[in-house]
Amino acid sequence: MTSLRSICVFCGSSPGARPDYAAAARALADELCARGLGLVYGGASVGLMATVADAVLARGGQVIGVIPEALMARELAHPALTELHVVGTMHQRKARMVELADGFVALPGGFGTLDEMFEVLTWAQLGLHDKPCGLLDVADYFEHLVRFVDHLVAERMVREEHRALLLREREPAALLDAMAAYTPPRLTKWIDREDT
Ligand code: AMP
Repeated sequence: MTSLRSICVFCGSSPGARPDYAAAARALADELCARGLGLVYGGASVGLMATVADAVLARGGQVIGVIPEALMARELAHPALTELHVVGTMHQRKARMVELADGFVALPGGFGTLDEMFEVLTWAQLGLHDKPCGLLDVADYFEHLVRFVDHLVAERMVREEHRALLLREREPAALLDAMAAYTPPRLTKWIDREDT
C-alpha cells in the first residue's frame, strides 16, 4: 500500500487532437479532488497542463506548479496556483516534482511528458524512489508505447520486474486505486554480469 497525498501529473503543453484528452484531464482532476489529493505539475497555463490545473483549482483543490525560469514566458506560468515554485533548470524541475509528489501519472503528451515519465520510471528502477508510476491511457493514446515497452522486455533490455513498475489504466479511479494499492517490488538495482 502507498499512502498518497499528492500526485504529479505529466501531460502535454498542447491540447492534442482529440477532446477526449482534455475530458480525461478533467476527469482525473475530479478524482484527485474527490480523494483529497493535491496536484503537482509543471506550472504552465497552456495545453492539457492548464486543463488539469484549472479543473483542480475550480473544485477547490491544491495545486503546486514547478516551472523553470527559462520557461516562465514560453509556457506562461499559471497565475492562480496554490503555490508556484520557480526553479533554475529542467532537471531541478523534475527533481522538485519527485520530492513533492507521492506518485506520478502521465496523460497524453509529447516528448516532455515521455521524458518526465521515463525519468521517474528509471529512478524507480534504480531504487531512488518507490513511488507508483502510471499511464492514464485515454483513447488508446499509449497503446503503441506499451507495445514498445513489451518489445524492450522481449529483447531483454528491460527486466519483467522493472516492466511491472509502469502501471496502466483507462480510468482515473482505476489508476488511482492501483497506485494506492501499489507495493514497491524488491528490486535488484543493477543487472549482474551473470544475467547478460
Ligand atoms: P510536452 O509533453 O512536450 O508538451 O511537454 C510537457 C511538459 O514537459 C512541458 O512543461 C515541457 O516544458 C516539459 N519538458 C519538456 N522536456 C523536459 C525535460 N527534459 N525536463 C523537464 N521537463 C520537460
